[in-house]
Amino acid sequence: IISLEGVNKYYGDFHALKNIDLKVREGEVVAILGPSGSGKSTLIRCINHLEAYSAGDIYVDSVRVQPGPELIEVRKDVGMVFQSFNLFPNMTVLENVTLGPIRVRGMSPGDAQARAKELLEKVGIAEQMYKYPSALSGGQQQRVGIARALANEPRVLLFDEPTSALDPEMVGEVLDVIKTLAGTGVTMLLVTHEMGFARHVADRVIFMEAGQIVEEGAPEQIFSAPQEDRTRAFFQSVL
Ligand code: ATP
Ligand code: MG
Repeated sequence: IISLEGVNKYYGDFHALKNIDLKVREGEVVAILGPSGSGKSTLIRCINHLEAYSAGDIYVDSVRVQPGPELIEVRKDVGMVFQSFNLFPNMTVLENVTLGPIRVRGMSPGDAQARAKELLEKVGIAEQMYKYPSALSGGQQQRVGIARALANEPRVLLFDEPTSALDPEMVGEVLDVIKTLAGTGVTMLLVTHEMGFARHVADRVIFMEAGQIVEEGAPEQIFSAPQEDRTRAFFQSVL
């Protein structure tokens, strides 16, 4: 459902992504690991064109990701969950979750609210729906972020370190929600530093360094028997 072919990205002179080839199948859960600055965020942000890539091709469900009318189609299919939640502070939880479906999908406010309530139920915060984000804990805000991403009924969900801004005691509740989603058939690309989570939830793990995919494979293989020195060195530094 996602295909990157020969993708390169420059920030000015800096070569942030180097010839990335990657295919993700429908329903697959892929964890992206790697040191800070290796290009993980850049990679996933190129998939919904939050960052423009410099060369190569990216397709989501055979639509090329590029500026123009196609991008609206791509963004309907691709939801994103951010490290810093990125909720709209001047809107209630419910409004945060209904905005996309009303604006992007043209859903009626009534239908959007019914759907939003279901999703908020699912992530365990229905009782908070009339509050503003600032009145919620980090873990609750991120669960709203996930409900908001799901409200557009995406086929692909991109997560960029969804738990790294959270206090440790709130990481578990958000990972539990993501874990539940992983079993529902939605395709997921997840940048994370939660090694245990990547190991147990991902179908495939990708290790990046210096703008390249250094190694990829099944979690057991990558964690127990990494082939590349750079992967081993990374695990030694984080595990
Ligand atoms: P982290 O784990 O710290 O989030 P990352 O793997 O997500 O790191 P990226 O954010 O993708 O890394 O950044 C890759 C490289 O590109 C870094 O060296 C970074 O400094 C550089 N970079 C990222 N965004 C920009 C930008 N807007 N302008 C210039 N350079 C950038
Ligand atoms: Mg990043």
